[in-house]
Amino acid sequence: MAEEIPGIETICENVHLITPKAASPLQSRYCSNIIVLKDSAEEYTLVDTGDSVLTLAMLDVFKKKDPKFDISKITRIILTHTHYDHCFGLRRISERLEAKDLPKIIVSEAETEALEKYGADYFFGSKFFRNLLEHPLLDSLADTNNSMDYQKNTTELFEGYDYQKIREDTTSLKAGGLEWEIMHTSGHTPGSIALYNEHEEILISGDLISKWGNKYRRNLGYIYGYNPFGRTAIEADIPKCLDTLSLLKKKKITIILPGHGNLISNKSEFSAQQTIENIYAYLAPKQKIINFYQSVLNFIGK
Ligand SMILES: [Zn+2]
Repeated sequence: MAEEIPGIETICENVHLITPKAASPLQSRYCSNIIVLKDSAEEYTLVDTGDSVLTLAMLDVFKKKDPKFDISKITRIILTHTHYDHCFGLRRISERLEAKDLPKIIVSEAETEALEKYGADYFFGSKFFRNLLEHPLLDSLADTNNSMDYQKNTTELFEGYDYQKIREDTTSLKAGGLEWEIMHTSGHTPGSIALYNEHEEILISGDLISKWGNKYRRNLGYIYGYNPFGRTAIEADIPKCLDTLSLLKKKKITIILPGHGNLISNKSEFSAQQTIENIYAYLAPKQKIINFYQSVLNFIGK
């Protein structure tokens, strides 16, 4: 367990963050992190699966960290939400396991409803993003092509898996030896969930809070899918993000395991709590822009 592996961070004994950098320094942009919660030497729970390209490579690298780990020992996969970069890895996992004894998927009911309603558009987060991926200029990018192979409907993506839908009244689950509060964090998507452990003060945030670790974003975290002009039902809902962030401001959080980018901890440049405050401050003025834009649309009767 002692070996340091680039791209893998161990938070506590049974909680590990695998970033796409563990598998590839180049193709990391559109793949989510995978969080490994070790239930026992024989049972592991994942949070998110990455996209279809890097998933298996990321999990294979994790074996160097924990030689007892094997994909066949994954018994549950919790999806923070079902954007393609977080869940298309499901197909790679089922292919590797040859559809035998697949893990159980845990996903919020609101998220499956949104998937059924919006189909492939929803996987891609926004039409804009899908159009970008389909652009001929990007054809040569391996990760784009592979991801496009997986533009399937819900049934095909989850084929062979049993899945448990988490309703709003489900409030906790146990994984990695810890009790996690299931927070219904709609905003980034209608059925996003986050996991919070009060004892270790850890938040597994999904895409509500992410970090590219890039100077341009000043490590403030980032909300995906934000598009004030031409917002659709499948893009981030900023008022809901703000509500959810207010809930988080009340929790004691010292470590955030984000959907993308490195761990955010009180040891890093910004504290976890400060990051939440910063994102809140970043979004609040944008809500004013949306309100203004909406009032113009209302005025012209659109
Ligand atoms: Zn997302």
